[in-house]
Amino acid sequence: MLKQVAEGVLTHESEFLQSNAVVVQGKAGVLLIDPGITSDEMAALANDLHALGQSVVVGFSTHPHWDHLLWHARFGEAPRYGTARCAADIRAFLSGAHWKDDIAEELPPEIEVPLDLLGLITGLPAEAREIPWDGPKVRIIEHQAHAVGHAALLIEERRVLVAGDMLSDVLIPMLDVSAADPIEDYLAALRLIEGVADDIKVFIPGHGSVGDANQLRARIEQDRAYVQALRDGGDGGGSDDPRLSAPLNKDWLPGVHEWQRQQIAKKREHDGPPA
Ligand SMILES: [Zn+2]
Repeated sequence: MLKQVAEGVLTHESEFLQSNAVVVQGKAGVLLIDPGITSDEMAALANDLHALGQSVVVGFSTHPHWDHLLWHARFGEAPRYGTARCAADIRAFLSGAHWKDDIAEELPPEIEVPLDLLGLITGLPAEAREIPWDGPKVRIIEHQAHAVGHAALLIEERRVLVAGDMLSDVLIPMLDVSAADPIEDYLAALRLIEGVADDIKVFIPGHGSVGDANQLRARIEQDRAYVQALRDGGDGGGSDDPRLSAPLNKDWLPGVHEWQRQQIAKKREHDGPPA
C-alpha cells in the first residue's frame, strides 16, 4: 500500500479525506508522520513495514487535530513527538471528560478509528529545530496557521516537504480562527514555506495529492489567493476557489468556507480593517 515519492520517503493515502501518512527511512527503522485514520489501514501499514523488515523508531504529529494524532498498537512503543505547543494543546484537549464524544461527532459512522492511543505525544523543546532520530535530518518549520503548534517538516537531503494541513489541492486553507490574527498567521506561514521552496522537489500535503516543485508554487499562490480574498471580504470572500466545488467535498466544504467568512467578518468588525 505504500508508495515511494522520493528516495527513502513513502506515503499512504487514506480513504478518509485523502489523508497522507508519511514514512521516512532511517538507519535503524522509520519515522512515521501522521500515521493514518482507520484501524485497518494502520494495521496494513504495519504489515507493509514488517514485510520491508522495518520497525517504527519514532512518530511525529504535525498538529493537534485528531486525524493527525492517531496510532496503532502494532506500530509499537516508539517515542511520539509534536511541537511543544502541539503537545500542550492536545494534553489540554485530552484532559476534558468528553473528548471521545467530541471526536465521534466528526466521524463518519462507516469508519473504525481507534482512539485509545490518540494524542499520546511528547512535546519537543520549544527551541528544537529538528526531529531527534537516527536518520536524514528532518527540519521542523513551526508556524501558527491552521492550528496551534503546526509544523511543516523539511527532509533536507531528500528535498521533501511534509506540509501538514497546508497546500492541499482538495481542502481550502482552514484558519485557526481562535488566534488573534489568523489571516496574517496564515500568510506568514505561506511566506515561510515559500522561503524554502527552492530546496523542495516534492511536497506532501496532509490531505490530497503529492506535488512537485512547480505545483508547490502554484499551491502557495492558490492558498494565498484564498486567504487574501477571505481577508478582503467582498462578495464571496474566496468562494470561487475551485476546491470548494471539487466532487469529493462539495457537499460540506462550502459550509466551512461560509463559517470562516463569518468568523473573519466578525473579527474585522471588532478589530477594524487589517493594517
Ligand atoms: Zn488539521
